[in-house]
Amino acid sequence: MTKNYLKLQFYSLPRNQAFARDAVAAFCLELNPSLSDLSDVKTAVSEAVTNCTVHAYRGNLGLVTVECEVEDDKLHIKISDTGKGIPDVAKAVQPFYTSLPSDERSGMGFTIMQTFMDEFSVNSIQGEGTVVYMSKSFSKDVENA
Ligand code: ATP
Ligand code: MG
Repeated sequence: MTKNYLKLQFYSLPRNQAFARDAVAAFCLELNPSLSDLSDVKTAVSEAVTNCTVHAYRGNLGLVTVECEVEDDKLHIKISDTGKGIPDVAKAVQPFYTSLPSDERSGMGFTIMQTFMDEFSVNSIQGEGTVVYMSKSFSKDVENA
């Protein structure tokens, strides 16, 4: 049985987004993901981390925590912030919903996470922060794309 765990914590600076995405990708290499699965995970992590920078802390400096766990052929990812929180999660996860239309946001971040990962959920408390959970299973039978 494969089991492994990683925890990263970093400032909500835009330049840490690529670092977080690549660190998670490197962590899940032991599952022999296809390039397509790897790309899905990187995109989902980028979207979640960007949301912490843009929405949770609104340009102020805060901490983003990324936790990953590998269990057998499954990758679990938890991305947390202690920022402003989401008043209505059901509304926020709707495609094209954005609270910042003037910033040219398309409101597709959560939809992308939902589409690219197998499991997805958001827990948020206003004024306390947000936790995004995602998981993906990597089939061992599939040849690397
Ligand atoms: P895009 O991701 O396409 O640039 P977006 O970030 O507005 O646009 P989503 O990522 O789908 O779209 O997020 C939808 C909305 O949920 C955001 O506009 C914001 O109001 C809220 N939101 C998302 N993540 C957080 C977070 N970590 N903290 C506070 N609010 C959030
Ligand atoms: Mg977004």
